[in-house]
Amino acid sequence: MTPATDTAYPHLFAPLDLGFTQLRNRILMGSMHTGLEDHSRDFPKLAAYFGERAAGGAALLVTGGFSPNIAGWLAPFGSKLSWPWEVGRHRPVTAAVHAHGAKICLQLLHAGRYAYHPLQVAPSKLKAPINPFTPRALSSWGVDRQIASYARAARLAREAGYDGVEVMGSEGYLINEFIAPRTNKRSDAWGGDASKRMRFAVEIVRRIREACGPDFIIIYRLSLLDLVEDGSNWEEILLQAKAIEAAGATIINSGIGWHEARVPTIATSVPRAAFTGVTAKLRPHVNVPVVAVNRINMPDVAERVLADGHADMVSLARPLLADPHWPAKARAGKPEAINTCIACNQACLDHIFVNKRATCLVNPRAAHETELVYRPTPAPKRVAVVGAGPAGLACATVAAERGHQVTLFDAAGEIGGQFNVAKRIPGKEEFHETLRYFRHRLADTGVDVRLDTRADAATLAGFDEVVVATGILPRRVDFPGADHPMVVSYLDVLLGRVHAADKVAIIGAGGIGFDVGEFLVHEGLSPALDPARWMAEWGVDPSFSNRGALTRPQPEAPARKVWLLQRSPGKPGARLGKTTGWIHRATLKAKGVQMLGGVEYLGVDDHGLRIRVDGQEQLLDVGTVVICAGQEPQRNLAAELQAQGRSVHIIGGADVAVELDAKRAIDQGSRLAAAL
Ligand code: FAD
Ligand code: NAP
Ligand code: SF4
Repeated sequence: MTPATDTAYPHLFAPLDLGFTQLRNRILMGSMHTGLEDHSRDFPKLAAYFGERAAGGAALLVTGGFSPNIAGWLAPFGSKLSWPWEVGRHRPVTAAVHAHGAKICLQLLHAGRYAYHPLQVAPSKLKAPINPFTPRALSSWGVDRQIASYARAARLAREAGYDGVEVMGSEGYLINEFIAPRTNKRSDAWGGDASKRMRFAVEIVRRIREACGPDFIIIYRLSLLDLVEDGSNWEEILLQAKAIEAAGATIINSGIGWHEARVPTIATSVPRAAFTGVTAKLRPHVNVPVVAVNRINMPDVAERVLADGHADMVSLARPLLADPHWPAKARAGKPEAINTCIACNQACLDHIFVNKRATCLVNPRAAHETELVYRPTPAPKRVAVVGAGPAGLACATVAAERGHQVTLFDAAGEIGGQFNVAKRIPGKEEFHETLRYFRHRLADTGVDVRLDTRADAATLAGFDEVVVATGILPRRVDFPGADHPMVVSYLDVLLGRVHAADKVAIIGAGGIGFDVGEFLVHEGLSPALDPARWMAEWGVDPSFSNRGALTRPQPEAPARKVWLLQRSPGKPGARLGKTTGWIHRATLKAKGVQMLGGVEYLGVDDHGLRIRVDGQEQLLDVGTVVICAGQEPQRNLAAELQAQGRSVHIIGGADVAVELDAKRAIDQGSRLAAAL
């Protein structure tokens, strides 16, 4: 590698010579399904989405997954490339990327037994634990047909102008199902020992190379860590990597964890760059570039991965959803200007799981580039925004970017609103980055920030537009003893105003109740900041050698005994995020937290909290009761202004507190500002 000389990140911006073509730097935009791939009418939006990311400086972009045939659809009528008439819609996408000097590969993804429809096929008739459909086992003729459809799809991709394809061989999809003993129980030429199980993958790469010629990029996404029982072991992974290289792959990308794995791999509580060690372990054994993935979200992390020799390239997927211009900002030495992905999954993966177009919590323009446009205003106004929480910050900065003269008030001494509380939760350290980004953005867009200023009607006289983003007030509860000194608010605990006792009951098991649970059971350094401890907690084999890279989890003892309670029947946490809720539940379970639904609160006295569950009265002998019972809008300022006949815009928690999250707050603030 010849490091670049004109940047603070010399390894990240070193070009990469692939022999027949050159990449301008070491940044690969990892594949993400946005939902735009599923309908031909959305391809112009897909072109704008990729065009913006190419303009932002990434070297090599990978599309969301396209199945090579109907059986491999992720969901009925999902993205697919198998017929010549499907080629034309891709040309604007590849042209938009090439116009900005980047390259693009189409990902070939056959869902195998993860396909959410009854036509699914797999090496063996084994149902996935996360899918209601049972696959049909492929005949050996059927296996041949699958391989042929990969080669045909790759040829069509080439016709569409793609520089190559990425063959999805990981995450538990069809190819990975052939490779792992967990899912391949065949006894023909495609099952048995490791060399037979990997034959399907090797044949696919070989046939694509044959069909597309030597000057076509083939990225192979190889599952380096299955993180499931009966996954591959290290010898098998190495054997596969060498065979894939020999079959004609140009680049090996890392795959980490099957979708059914019970180890988190991309959530915000996963340490940054947690898995690059396994890519480093592979690198000396192959002669093609290898790509490190997962939780690489800032340039210093990416540079360290490359400088330490862990990989030849880094894959940024969600970080480029959050900020398409991440590479350009890094290259210019302005990491503070990057809108950092906080790995929340709330607007990307969680959307995809409910069949909704992906976007980004911190960047509502993601995958909506043609629809949410921040045009310069023809008529600048004097705009007051009250409240510097996520809603107010988004609104103030977008309005100022458009040319309005914006003043932002907050009663607190720092910007951020509730994000200043959220960032204290172990595993939510990334929330600091959003605040850093907004601090920079406020200065950059010239917003006049007035901290320690509680705005009232008088303060707001003379503005053309007033935006009220005053957030929420914690909901108070009403049961006997609710005013007992041991009963405190989540803010008291999280802001350090109260030190919780050794036994604690949490009333309310929403997002904040779970977060308070995490805060109370962890003490000292957050596992998210200590990869070795994190791996021990989740049972990841630190040598990456065992089958599936799993070992016995060794959670540290909890800092205190905690009960997490809700009145509604059923399991607490059912309404948490689709892709992250299970992580919160598993963490608290491992720490011995008692989670109870259907609880009636009878009262608090000096002995603790009395509850009734299933008709049985119980005394929880706790020393602290933390109220996390939801929130109410803080509207007194809006009401005061409205009483004076002034028109106001109300956004974020001040508008609707129920089911409020930062995704809605930032989206609402940004959309209002785009329309002012
Ligand atoms: P707020 O963040 O409440 O900000 C309101 C601001 O207005 C405050 O700074 C306040 O000081 C100011 N203000 C009020 N009145 C006045 C006045 N008269 N004059 C001047 N200033 C005033 N959301 C997620 O999406 N994902 C998460 O993982 C997540 N985790 C969370 C964890 C915790 C522990 C907490 C507490 C919240 C979490 N949230 C999360 C919720 C998220 O923080 C809120 O949805 C979001 O902050 C709401 O934004 P907002 O701008 O409407 O209000
Ligand atoms: P929430 O999700 O609405 O949960 C409130 C909890 O309090 C519920 O468990 C509710 O359950 C209980 N409750 C409501 N009224 C009560 C009362 N009068 N007495 C006793 N219990 C009562 O609210 P939250 O936990 O405060 O979170 C606020 C918002 O922040 C949420 O909308 C959430 O989206 C967001 N947030 C998100 C995350 C995340 O990871 N995505 C994390 C934190 C916060 P019962 O009615 O069954 O008792
Ligand atoms: Fe990252 Fe959250 Fe945005 Fe997804 S929604 S890209 S995880 S910040």
